Amino acid sequence: MSGETHHGDGARTLAGQGPVVVALDVGGTDIKAALVDADGVLLEQVTPTRAAQGPQASFAAVLAAVADVRGRVPAGRTVAAVGLAVPGTVDEEAGVVLSAENLDWVDLPVRALVAEATGLPVGFGHDVRAGGLAEWRLGAARGAHDHAFLAVGTGIAAAVVLRGEPYPAHGWAGEVGHGGARDGEPCPCGGRGCAETFASAAGMARTYRRLTGAPVADVPGAREVLARAQAGDDVARGVWDRGVDRLGELVAEMTRLLALPTVVVGGGLVRAGDALLRPLDEAVRSYLTVHPVPRLVPAELGSAAGMHGAALLGWDAARAAGLDVPHRHAVRPAPGSAPLGGLVTADGVAP
Ligand SMILES: [Zn+2]
Repeated sequence: MSGETHHGDGARTLAGQGPVVVALDVGGTDIKAALVDADGVLLEQVTPTRAAQGPQASFAAVLAAVADVRGRVPAGRTVAAVGLAVPGTVDEEAGVVLSAENLDWVDLPVRALVAEATGLPVGFGHDVRAGGLAEWRLGAARGAHDHAFLAVGTGIAAAVVLRGEPYPAHGWAGEVGHGGARDGEPCPCGGRGCAETFASAAGMARTYRRLTGAPVADVPGAREVLARAQAGDDVARGVWDRGVDRLGELVAEMTRLLALPTVVVGGGLVRAGDALLRPLDEAVRSYLTVHPVPRLVPAELGSAAGMHGAALLGWDAARAAGLDVPHRHAVRPAPGSAPLGGLVTADGVAP
């Protein structure tokens, strides 16, 4: 759906009753925007972020997506709030994006700017912490006392969710993809050998291409690295195993500090299913001695986790403003849209 606008048919309950929230998951390439009520997603659309045109253009694209979705709310239904999930280093307490490299945003007071532009309460959070919140209230971590949500895709980041509350530490908690090494490939953070450079989905693909000269067209992502490893390619096997081992070390590091009983694994890499989770579990165990081994579970919400989390943040902001709104919503995709992109299937790779 990247780069084009997609609308669900909206036939189910658009004309129903009750408040709605406008939920946005802002990515470096696309903005996923949705209208959500207590029964689920009413409609969703994907529009380009236009990050290459600079920070003003990408922020204007965010406001345009809010206005567009808001403009399609039928008469008689009220918009209670806007919920926003954004990437980068995000200070939820201050409502500020400290830095988002792929959007070129620096010290941008997003919450206040969106509130000013819309006149609505604004729920605001980091995309991975919003995803962790959504997995706790709606997905794989339901019933877990405390959990971590580890997102492995273009980058690597974790959300620490304690008693259902993401722990942000002004944006720095869970940034496990950077640091922890002195040698290796240079990383955009200024370090070398960060986990993100070789253990993220993008990092695995990049490492394989660097070692073999394979073109991007042949090995665009970790899926191709895994397929080659499974077909007997020793270089691919080495890249995959080294990446998974480092991810296991990261989970073990988090376990030694917090001993979280559950780790929900999300992001694009978890589409590999058991081909990831089984060796990851072994790696985690290999780095632990006395600590209880956390239960690794695949994310349930797939690539929709950030959007659902944004909607939950929107409900929370509306309630904080004194409105009578739900605490959660049903996880149903918009009519006419693909069901929960990136969902993990029993045999591994989602279609
Ligand atoms: Zn780094």
